[in-house]
Parts: sequence; C-alpha cells; structure tokens
Amino acid sequence: MLQLIDVGSLCIDHYRGLCSDDVLEQIHELAEPLRGARVLHLNATPYGGGVSEMLRSAIPLLRDVGIDAEWRIISGNPAFFRITKKVHNGLQGMPGELTDDELELYEATARANAAQLDRNYDLVVVHDPQPAPIAMLAADRSAAWVWRCHIDTSEPARPFQELLARYRHAYDALIYTLPQFVPPDVDPGSVFLIPPAIDPLSPKNVDLPEHLAREVLNWIGIDLGYPIITQVSRFDPWKDPIGVIEVYRSVRESFPRLQLALVGSMAQDDPEAWDMYRRVMTEARNDDLIHVFTNLTGVGNVEVNAFQRMSTVALQQSIREGFGLVVSETMWKRTPVVARAAGGIGMQMPKGVGGLLVQDHHEAVDAVVQLIDDPVQARTLGARGHDFVCEHFTMPRLIRDELAMMHSIGVRRV
Ligand code: UDP
Repeated sequence: MLQLIDVGSLCIDHYRGLCSDDVLEQIHELAEPLRGARVLHLNATPYGGGVSEMLRSAIPLLRDVGIDAEWRIISGNPAFFRITKKVHNGLQGMPGELTDDELELYEATARANAAQLDRNYDLVVVHDPQPAPIAMLAADRSAAWVWRCHIDTSEPARPFQELLARYRHAYDALIYTLPQFVPPDVDPGSVFLIPPAIDPLSPKNVDLPEHLAREVLNWIGIDLGYPIITQVSRFDPWKDPIGVIEVYRSVRESFPRLQLALVGSMAQDDPEAWDMYRRVMTEARNDDLIHVFTNLTGVGNVEVNAFQRMSTVALQQSIREGFGLVVSETMWKRTPVVARAAGGIGMQMPKGVGGLLVQDHHEAVDAVVQLIDDPVQARTLGARGHDFVCEHFTMPRLIRDELAMMHSIGVRRV
C-alpha cells in the first residue's frame, strides 16, 4: 500500500469567523449526500511545499464533514524525482525533453505505485506531474479520476505539454488555478478552476502574540530593531532567491542596517534545492545581515509564522508561480508583500490590496523602499490584504469548491 500520511482531526465549525458564514453552510449542505465517499489525494511529498501544506489541513476537514478521505504519497528513487522535477520545470516553460530512458523510469515508477493502490475509491485526486501517469496505469476504473495542477502551465515547453496530454486523457476532470494555465486542447467541460487556500488555524498561520514572535526571531539571531525583508520559499530557480539578494543589496543603499532572511524548505520531491541552497550560501557569504534558514535547521511552521508576521516587507520574486501560498499566508498576517506579478500571485493582490506588484528588479527595489519609508501605507495595504484573504483564500472556501466539484462530476458512494 502507498504510504499513508497521518493527519489527525480538525473541525470545520472552528473556522466560523475566518471565512463567510455562507461558505460553512454550503459545506454542510454539499457534504451531506457525499457522506462516506472514499476519496484519495495522492501526491509526491508529505512536507515542503504548498501542496502538502494544503492537504495537511484539507484531509482532516473533509473527514470532519463525513468524507472518507485519505492522503497517500507515491515513492520513487532519486533518479525518478530528478525526472519529475524536469517535467515540472518543462511544464513551467524550461526547454528540454525526457530521454527514452527517463520516460521509461518515469512511467515504470508510476506503474509500481499504481500497483500498490489496493483499495477501491469513489474519487482519486492526483496532484501535480509526479504521479500524473498513474490514472492510465491504475486498475481501479470505478473511481472518478481528477488531476489537480498546482503549477504555472501558461507557457509550457512543447515536449512536456505533449507528454502531459497523454496522461490527461485518463482523467475525468482537471483542476487548475487560473484559466491561462489550461491547455487549449482541453475540453472546457472537464475543467474546474479552484484556487488554493491557507489554513488560518494551522501553526503557521494561527495568531502569534507579538512578544512571542519577537522571542522566536531573536532566538535565531534576528534583530528586530532594524528593518528586515524576507522571502519564504523553496530554494528553487523559479523563486529567484538570487534575485532577492540583488533586491536586498539595492535597498540596503537606502537602509544600511537592512537585514534579509531567506527561509527555504527542502521538499522530498525537489532534488534541485541543495544546488540552489549552495548558490545562495555562496552569494550570501561575507554578509552577516543575510540570514539563510531551512526546515532542516529547525526553522519550521512557528518560525515561518513569526517571519511572515514581523518582517517589515515580505518579498516574493517568483518568475513562474502556480499560486504562491506564501503570499496569502503573509497577507493574512497583515504584512505588506512586494511580489512579482507571476502566475497566481496577481489574483491574490489586486491593486491596493496586500502590497505592491512589480515587474522587475528596479520596480521591486522602489516598492520595498517606499513601503519601509511609509509605514502608514504599509499598514493600510497589509490590513486590506488580510481582509481579502479572509474573503477568498481560507481553507473552508477550498473545501466548499472541492465538494461542489465532486457533485459536478457525479461522485457517489457506491
Ligand atoms: N514553506 C515552509 N518553510 C520554508 C519555505 C516554505 O514551510 O522554509 C512553506 C510555505 O509557508 C508555504 C509552502 O511551503 O506553505 C510553499 O507554498 P507555495 O505555494 O508558496 O510554493 P510551492 O513550494 O508550492 O511552489
């Protein structure tokens, strides 16, 4: 059997006040006829990125409303995860293609994982490209199969677009975050647009009193007497951590004691992270105002919570971005964000909400300087950001949309 991730239990009614009351009512209404439906969510890693972050909350909440939901992860060797990262990169637009050997290992690993699905489900939701071939290889044809794309597929490299098209045919429905991520040859009737969401009650987002947040950051060496800018992101070329250091260097010309924190997790399915980490460390050497942290050195949910809460400005300099959960996480904490307008970031930050959207290095530098210089503007943008996230991007809205999708595709407990 594929590895089951233990998620404990949560209660949807504890989210009252953290989303609109209507959403909670709709959840109860939609869930009732689906009680007992056996639902599997399948992805490649139990930690270290937006997908695992969401499943960690969504699975227990689905269970709370009567869905028999499970979260399992696929397994593979390091070569498999190098291949799937290549597919991920290709779908986000990096040129290249799989060799015959790579394709064989990709599909052989998917087949081995598919063979371990020894229970029947009413719905299987497969997340992202790593497990994508599983639907066409699995024996369970009574389940509805849904592929959930979390990445920015607006400009995919052609060989990878064609590869995914082969796997997509085995799915009954597809979920994307934005219309521009949907390939043109897909039947629009099979597409659902569902943006991701944050869990306002998770240790990463729950209210953290300021004195505690300060203590947490002091303990790891941050001096909150000076401005600090932070990017929380996997060490991934698409998140452009080197570009973040360049922005910091330019902003420091105006604020000489400015600090930069780069907080990055190492996900199990992301073999490129160590290379990027080493590049960041090389770039940051000789500057003791740049702090680099990872989940492997004890900077976990509570520390991320404190950084997102206490930073003067948060950066998100992604070149491609499926959604960027970190943006909503930060806005939830009323901290202003300066983000590149990539992929799903723009939908979180309409004009005048949450911070400033920028197109390039120079705009990013100007925006950060402006927000450090003008705390009133920073606070106003931050407060609007919190309200916007509350309205659109908290977990109950995601649960509601997924239940509605289950109805639309006819999922029933059989
Ligand atoms: N994250 C974390 N620690 C880190 C870096 C990231 O816990 O050091 C979390 C972050 O808080 C967010 C998720 O990883 O919940 C990243 O999701 P996002 O959608 O921003 O990007 P992805 O990694 O999925 O591309």
